[in-house]
Amino acid sequence: MKNSIIMVLICFLSMQLFGSNNLIFDEYFINKSMRIDYFQTGTNTEKIISLNKVKEEPFWAGSTTNLIDTLNLGMHIVRVYDEKSGKMIFSRGFNSFFQEWQTTDEAVSETYRTIPASAIIPYPKKNIRFTISSRNKKMEFVEEFSTIIDPNSRFVIHERPKYDFKVKHYLENGSPNEKVDILILPEGYTKKEMKTFRKDIKNLMTIFFQNPPFNEMKDKFNVWYIEAPSEESGVDDPRKGKFVNTLLNLSFNTFDIDRYVHGPDNEIMRNVAASAPYDQIYILMNTTKYGGGGIFNYCSICYNHAIKPENDWVPGYVFVHEFGHAFGGLADEYYSSNVAYNDFYPKGVEPWEPNITALNDPDNVKWKSLVEKDTPLPTPWDKKGYDSIPYGKSNIREEFLKEQKYWGKVGAFQGGGYVSEGIYRSYLDCRMFSKSTSPFCPVCQEAIKKVIRFYSE
Ligand SMILES: [Zn+2]
Repeated sequence: MKNSIIMVLICFLSMQLFGSNNLIFDEYFINKSMRIDYFQTGTNTEKIISLNKVKEEPFWAGSTTNLIDTLNLGMHIVRVYDEKSGKMIFSRGFNSFFQEWQTTDEAVSETYRTIPASAIIPYPKKNIRFTISSRNKKMEFVEEFSTIIDPNSRFVIHERPKYDFKVKHYLENGSPNEKVDILILPEGYTKKEMKTFRKDIKNLMTIFFQNPPFNEMKDKFNVWYIEAPSEESGVDDPRKGKFVNTLLNLSFNTFDIDRYVHGPDNEIMRNVAASAPYDQIYILMNTTKYGGGGIFNYCSICYNHAIKPENDWVPGYVFVHEFGHAFGGLADEYYSSNVAYNDFYPKGVEPWEPNITALNDPDNVKWKSLVEKDTPLPTPWDKKGYDSIPYGKSNIREEFLKEQKYWGKVGAFQGGGYVSEGIYRSYLDCRMFSKSTSPFCPVCQEAIKKVIRFYSE
C-alpha cells in the first residue's frame, strides 16, 4: 500500500517535471518577443524593482523547445507563469549590472542608485504572471518582484522598432529558434568607420571560431550585426578627460576600474537591437584601449584593436573571455587582479558558476565526472611560487604553470573568483584565468557546450 502511494507520488512528480520541460510553444506564445523594462533601485543591502514599460518586439530568437531554463546559472531568474493555471511556462537565468554595483564601495556606503534593465521573453498569448527572483546567501532563489501582464491590453506598446538600421549577417546557419544568435552592435564607430566595423567583426569572429568549443559547434551559431553609427569616434575615457558622443554611451573606468567597461544605455541598446533576432548582444568598441566586460545574459563588450601589432592577439583574448561570462555564465578564475568588488563570493558558500567551487564537499565537486581518480582534491600547486612572479611577466607565469605536477588535469586549485583563498578553480590555466592564448579549460568547455545545446535544440 505504502509502495503504491509512493509510486503514484513519483509518477505525479515526474509528470510535473516532464510536463514543465515539454511545453508546447504555440499553446502559450507567439513567435516574437515581449520586452519588459524595469528599474532596480537600492544600496548594498536594499533593492526595489519597479516596472517601467512593456513592449512588443518583432523577433523571438530563443528556443521554442527549451522554454524552462534547466541550466541553473545566474544570480537572478525571470519566471513566467500562465496566470490562469499557475503553470510555469518560461524561465531564464541572468546576472545584472545592478548586482555587480551592489558589491562596490559606493553601494556599501549606502548611496542609492537606479539602474535600468530589460527582460526579453517570448510573446505570451494570454495573461501571465511575470516574476524576478534572486539568490539568497544559500544560493536559493527568492522571489523579489511579481506582476500580472495582459499581452492584449492597451498598456503594451506595439510600436515598430524605433530605429530602422539595416540588419546584416556575418554567419547564417538556420532559424534563430534553433541557433545561438549573436548580435554585434558598434559603439563609437562613425558613419565613415563602418568599413572598420565590418573588418573588426571579421577579425574577432575568426578568432572566436578558432576557439574550442565554438570551432566544433560553429554550425549552431548565427551572427548578425547592425551598422548603427555614433556621432563621434571612440569611447569615453574619464581618466584622460576624454568624452565623446556615442550611440550606447559606454565609458571606461566603470566602478572606477580603468579597464572595466559596462552599463550601456539599456534603452537605446534594446531599441537598436530590436530590429534583429538575438540571444546575445556583443558590443564592439572602436578604441585601441584595452578593456571590456561581460555580464551573464545581459551583454558582452570588447575593444577592437591593439596599439602594438605584437599585441594583436589581446583583443581576441578579451573578445572570447567576455563571451565566456555573458553566454556561459562562467566566473573569472583569476584572483590576483584589481577589482572593485566586496565579498563577491561570500566565504564558505558554493558559487553557482560552473567553473569555480568553495570545495565544501570535495567528493562531490560539481565537475566530478572530469576528475581522474588519482588527482587529489584540493589539488596541490606551487601557488606561492606563482604569486611571486610579477603580474606583467605573463610568459614566465605560463611556463611556471606548465611545470606543475597537475598541469593538464582537472582538479581543484586554490585561487579563483577574485579571491586567493577559499575559492578553487578546476584547472591550472584557462581563458577565464590568464591573459594569454590559453583555451577554455575542459570544465568551461563543457559548460559552454551545455548552453549552446540549450539554445539550439
Ligand atoms: Zn575554465
